[in-house]
Amino acid sequence: MLIDCGSEALNSLQHHLDPLQLDAVILSHYHHDHIADLGVLQYYRQLFPTAEDVPLLPIYGHTEDAEHFAQLSLAGVSVGKGYDPQETLEVGPFAITFMKTIHPVVCYAMRIEEKATGKVLCFTGDSGYLASFVEFAKNSDIFLADTYLFNGHERHHAHFTAGEAGALAKAAHCQKLVLTHLPQVGDLTQLQAQAQAAAGPAILVALAQKNLKINI
Ligand SMILES: [Zn+2]
Ligand SMILES: [Zn+2]
Repeated sequence: MLIDCGSEALNSLQHHLDPLQLDAVILSHYHHDHIADLGVLQYYRQLFPTAEDVPLLPIYGHTEDAEHFAQLSLAGVSVGKGYDPQETLEVGPFAITFMKTIHPVVCYAMRIEEKATGKVLCFTGDSGYLASFVEFAKNSDIFLADTYLFNGHERHHAHFTAGEAGALAKAAHCQKLVLTHLPQVGDLTQLQAQAQAAAGPAILVALAQKNLKINI
């Protein structure tokens, strides 16, 4: 299951998995940096329309933006599936719950639990600081947090600062914090250090990067 599908996602994915083998995609919201490669993925699978082992790809998204939701479906290739953020969504081995975030457009954070093991990945989607993440992300094995901002920009309308990501990970007793949605400019080791300082020494803090492997 692919979570969001921004620019370069498809090229990166191919290093790990043939995109034809994807079972599902789930989207936090419809900003371009989260869906830019969705059409590319649809076209890729469209190249193999007769292959019996390439079923319709379910793409899960919220239904509060009808225009974008409609684009999730492409005849013979993919089908949009609206998730109800008030309900638990079951996708294959996962049980997924949602929380609306602080963002200029409707966006949902996801708490993804692997039912067989109880392991939890909590992904913030895009969000400004929201205290309810303490409960939503509680005891996550991995807290994958939008950390677009260095300290000094707290309570932003769209993204966390490094310190906010670290503080939420600590308050929620997460095992590991992975910083994603990283800024294009600035010293990322400083970003990581700011998050680590707020999270405390008990939490492993990593920067999202290609081929990052984390055991949980
Ligand atoms: Zn966004
Ligand atoms: Zn974004």
